[in-house]
Amino acid sequence: MSVRVRFAPSPTGYLHVGGLRTALYNFLFAKKNNGTFILRIEDTDQSRKVEGATENLIATLQWAGIEFDEGPGKDGHHGPYIQSQRLTLYTEYAEQLVAGGKAYYCFCTSERLEEVRKQQSAQGIDPKYDGHCRAIPIDEAKKRVNDGESYVVRMRVPDQGEVKFSDMIRGEVTIQNKSLDDQVLMKSDGFPTYHLAVVVDDHLMEISHVVRGEEWLPSTPKHVLLYQYFGWELPKFAHLPLLLNPDKSKLSKRQGDVAVEDYRAKGYLKEALVNFVAFLGWNPGDEREIFSLDDLINEFSFERVGKSGAVFNIEKLNWMNQQHIKVRTNEDLLPLVKPLVQEKGWTVSDEYLLHVIGLMKERVVVMNDFISACSYFYEDPSAYDETARAKNWKPESSGHVSILCEKLETLTSFDAPSIESALRSVSEELKIGAGKLIHPLRLALSGVSNGPSLFHMAEVLGKETVARRIKLALERLQ
Ligand code: GLU
Repeated sequence: MSVRVRFAPSPTGYLHVGGLRTALYNFLFAKKNNGTFILRIEDTDQSRKVEGATENLIATLQWAGIEFDEGPGKDGHHGPYIQSQRLTLYTEYAEQLVAGGKAYYCFCTSERLEEVRKQQSAQGIDPKYDGHCRAIPIDEAKKRVNDGESYVVRMRVPDQGEVKFSDMIRGEVTIQNKSLDDQVLMKSDGFPTYHLAVVVDDHLMEISHVVRGEEWLPSTPKHVLLYQYFGWELPKFAHLPLLLNPDKSKLSKRQGDVAVEDYRAKGYLKEALVNFVAFLGWNPGDEREIFSLDDLINEFSFERVGKSGAVFNIEKLNWMNQQHIKVRTNEDLLPLVKPLVQEKGWTVSDEYLLHVIGLMKERVVVMNDFISACSYFYEDPSAYDETARAKNWKPESSGHVSILCEKLETLTSFDAPSIESALRSVSEELKIGAGKLIHPLRLALSGVSNGPSLFHMAEVLGKETVARRIKLALERLQ
């Protein structure tokens, strides 16, 4: 059997990190098995429609390197891949179920349904449709439909018996039919519900494995029944573990960002985010943690996906991002850092930026740190860290630092070793510890007390800038 899998997001306006994980697992499984990865847009809930959401989703997947083989704009003879363009299909299949007695027209008003729900909760039973319209003879129902009465189509769930299916992650799942609702399949606006559309499309698109988040597990028994009603072969199912906040609650916006776009904007590398998201539920079975997309394709399997919720740990993501930055060459990072610098209106040469990248690479957590954690590489400090100043700029420092400045200005080659030996010789002449010069010099050059090697930093800044900044500090810090 050839592997055909799909990622089927609703276009809500952004790609959730959980969605990225679902897309990634589908993609990895397809690539590993020479299969096809399909993107299907599930936009049947018209009230949730967001302009531009589909384009945004596609762009974000592309950014992450998760390319689909079939989907909007990439025909694979199973389209259209946008559900709102498939409406007549759903109507036909709903009619087919009605004709076979597997579904029925329901004319209950929302007021009536509300009343039923109220009574049920007063009696302490789970709210469920009470079957009021089940017994309406088909001819009578058809007449009411033709007369223009508002209706929905509901599936007829047997009162007895059970639904069984097997899940690649959860094993055998059994659900009693009596716990299932007569699910609405077609809404009064002529749109299908998720449940009908997903089954029809997964069948017509010849999906071999349905891989999705655990939140859809309670819906699967209804889908299985629909497959049986249509007489269609079941796909294999895999329900991925929930994503949790560190306090084990369901991953939510309240505790941090959930949109892939937010992580992208903050300067996480796509390689790191993909690596991190892959580990939310899967692991390779050994100590290795840093994986490229190709490594993941080679190693991924559902046998190594766990059942229990996966905690979204931002420290882990930060660590992974650092690892992915460190292994990149400076030249690789240049095209990523350059636009950030330009956005700030700073102009520096590529050669200069390569030096900055080289010095900062081991120190940054996110790409934006190449800017925000070391703005002193691009402009003179506008202020000096107060604590550092109190600690390191003593009354005598000004005198010491001006002597150092004179010495530095005489240097013919302004590289880190020459700068260091100049500083050490001044400290000997003045009979003071080197620290008495090092700390004030760092403060003068950067405005802060931490950063990369001072002598290398001074070398990159260059003699002119170093002298200017020392003089500036002398004026400001006297
Ligand atoms: N449209 C559903 C979602 O937004 C898809 C669920 C499924 O994959 O079946 O997640």
